[in-house]
Amino acid sequence: MIDAVIIGGGPAGLSAALVLGRAKREVVLFDEDQPRNQVTAHSHGFITQDGVSPATFKETALGDLKKYPRIQVENQRVTSVKKGGSFFIVEAEGKTVKARKVLLATGLTDGLPDVKDVHSFYGKSLFPCPFCDGWELRDQPLLVLAESDHAYMFTKIISNWSKDLVLATNGKNLLTAEQEKELTSRGIRVMDEKIDSLIGEKGKLKSIRFETGVELERVGGFVTSQLQQASSLADQIGCKKNEQGGYEVDESSQSSVEGVYVAGDMTMNQAQQIVLAAANGSMAASRMVAALAFEDF
Ligand SMILES: Cc1cc2nc3c(=O)[nH]c(=O)nc-3n(C[C@H](O)[C@H](O)[C@H](O)COP(=O)(O)OP(=O)(O)OC[C@H]3O[C@@H](n4cnc5c(N)ncnc54)[C@H](O)[C@@H]3O)c2cc1C
Repeated sequence: MIDAVIIGGGPAGLSAALVLGRAKREVVLFDEDQPRNQVTAHSHGFITQDGVSPATFKETALGDLKKYPRIQVENQRVTSVKKGGSFFIVEAEGKTVKARKVLLATGLTDGLPDVKDVHSFYGKSLFPCPFCDGWELRDQPLLVLAESDHAYMFTKIISNWSKDLVLATNGKNLLTAEQEKELTSRGIRVMDEKIDSLIGEKGKLKSIRFETGVELERVGGFVTSQLQQASSLADQIGCKKNEQGGYEVDESSQSSVEGVYVAGDMTMNQAQQIVLAAANGSMAASRMVAALAFEDF
């Protein structure tokens, strides 16, 4: 039986593997390699890695892990996690592993608004997070495409990067009269009409067209997405969900199931950024090492 299985090789799982490997623990990292940011060419905001491609980030991380002989990386999807007494049985396509602890770091997926062609712009000129891509779009005519209750706050935050904003709610009428007045008094156009289409080429947005026929030039922008869990493994093993749709964890990153830890975006306890996911994975792994050390003492 090995010490730990990590499921998910994004920044959270990779950072956790580094901590466990450097603690001389035997660990298998299973990764299906479908990270949330695979649609984008550059990843920003992680000091020393600002602007690298997600693929380069991962390649560098896997290179770091190679230095530690007790870390094994398997490019496989895990299909089931079961408790087998005091240990866990993790089944992937083609491999079964018994482990003392499990870390789930399977990430999230983005449910985008139902707007024609939105997927072809996502990650290229439309992004989820201004902290990640606001600098690249700064001071330009931007679209805020928001179908959720966050529309108002999201627009106010984005005004940090550009004052030339159009908020499109795609027929949702999400703002109170007071909120709308506040935005329009600052030159932000609020469009509650249904969107006909997004227009542009090779992922670069040029304009947005509404069903009324109005077309407004926009070079890019931000979009709110409905975040969903990328995997149901945590549900399968009985981890309790929190109010945000993530998973409950204690101060050790341990879920409601003893021995199962959860890290990264899938906790939904923090903003979704690489540096935070990595820190979260690193912290969870150090707590796993401590738990293993105390059991072995
Ligand atoms: C368009 C876009 C742009 C972004 N840009 C930035 C940016 O510039 N800077 C920034 O800080 N953040 C950015 N983010 C956010 C960032 O991608 C996430 O916060 C980060 O990837 C979360 O890391 P994670 O390890 O929790 O999950 P992920 O990176 O999503 O990794 C999860 C991994 O688990 C694997 N997995 C899932 N289920 C299984 C299973 N059953 N078996 C095996 N493996 C499995 C997945 O395939 C994936 O490889 C962006 C997100 C998007 C959508």
